[in-house]
Amino acid sequence: MAPHQHAPVPGETADEHRRRGLSVRYRKAHTRGAYRVRWDAYDLAVLYLSTGRAHLATPKQIHAQINGGRCAFAPVRAAIADARRDCAPAQTPATDPRDLTTCTECGARLIRHWTSDGMDFTWLDEAGSRQAGEGGPPGIDSIEDYLDWLRAHDMRGYSAFLAQVTLGAGLLPWQHWHRPAPVIETGAGFPPLPWCCGEPARRVRDGWICREDPQHRPAAATAL
Ligand SMILES: [Zn+2]
Ligand SMILES: [Zn+2]
Repeated sequence: MAPHQHAPVPGETADEHRRRGLSVRYRKAHTRGAYRVRWDAYDLAVLYLSTGRAHLATPKQIHAQINGGRCAFAPVRAAIADARRDCAPAQTPATDPRDLTTCTECGARLIRHWTSDGMDFTWLDEAGSRQAGEGGPPGIDSIEDYLDWLRAHDMRGYSAFLAQVTLGAGLLPWQHWHRPAPVIETGAGFPPLPWCCGEPARRVRDGWICREDPQHRPAAATAL
């Protein structure tokens, strides 16, 4: 097998395969000297962006994970920008109106992302994030950065926010979790929902599934 051949690996999901393809192409373009940092950072950023954890794809977060935080920031920033550009087209494929909605809090466009088994989903915004919100000190976009900032500027605020973080707050004070507006899947313009075992079936990525017996796959009802 040629070293850069991009063949599917057994057990690899389509997304992992795509991600590996991006990485191989990127490594071909950046394989010397300081570029090592750049492609290590790129790999991490692509990993976070393509798995719905865009909040981890920040320069500080990724920088800390490479060479124990001893490398320069510039190649890390460049790699994150590249990763965002490469990941963007894959994050806006939704054409089914049922896979699009908006956040009732901020109006952001939200896209349904199915889990790899196609049985469940999450709503992410166009940056691939579950949360959003502007504010706070300039340049602060992660909980770790904000704790550092508070420690230097506001010890009382630091203690209070640290307590919240310890209790599980995964958000900065000026952020919110997106709240997807309900998606209309029935009524005019939609085929009737299929029923199975006395209940309306549940939609999954590739069709419908019975709520009682997961072996039942009711066929989609045809439009009247
Ligand atoms: Zn929102
Ligand atoms: Zn059934």
